[in-house]
Amino acid sequence: MSLLQSLARGFRCRCPSCGEGQTFRAFLKVRDRCEACGEEFYHHNADDLPAYIVVFMVGHVMLSVTLWMELAYQPSYWIYAATLLPMAALMSFGFIQPVKGAVVALQWHMGLDGFASARARRLGKVSS
Ligand SMILES: [Zn+2]
Repeated sequence: MSLLQSLARGFRCRCPSCGEGQTFRAFLKVRDRCEACGEEFYHHNADDLPAYIVVFMVGHVMLSVTLWMELAYQPSYWIYAATLLPMAALMSFGFIQPVKGAVVALQWHMGLDGFASARARRLGKVSS
């Protein structure tokens, strides 16, 4: 399985191993294991990386939109507040779960942290 396929499955909030089971049991709570194939997720360690990635993505979009609005229309400040703040909030809430799913899938694919033994089993390097 390629890294891109694992990331795509994770971004769709699916198990990176089988692509069928859900990664999350709540909005940002990762399941302990896949309900379809049993792959373990409890030892993932995404920490703040998904939030950093989302801030990076949303910040670039917001900067572009802000510059475009200023150069094209020069609106008053309340227009910025009424449009850009909800836009930033919606984009952030929309992207955080798929990005976290992709980060967990990246850890799974690379065998990082607790996924090392699962990766070794997957690649046939350990028999258990
Ligand atoms: Zn699975």
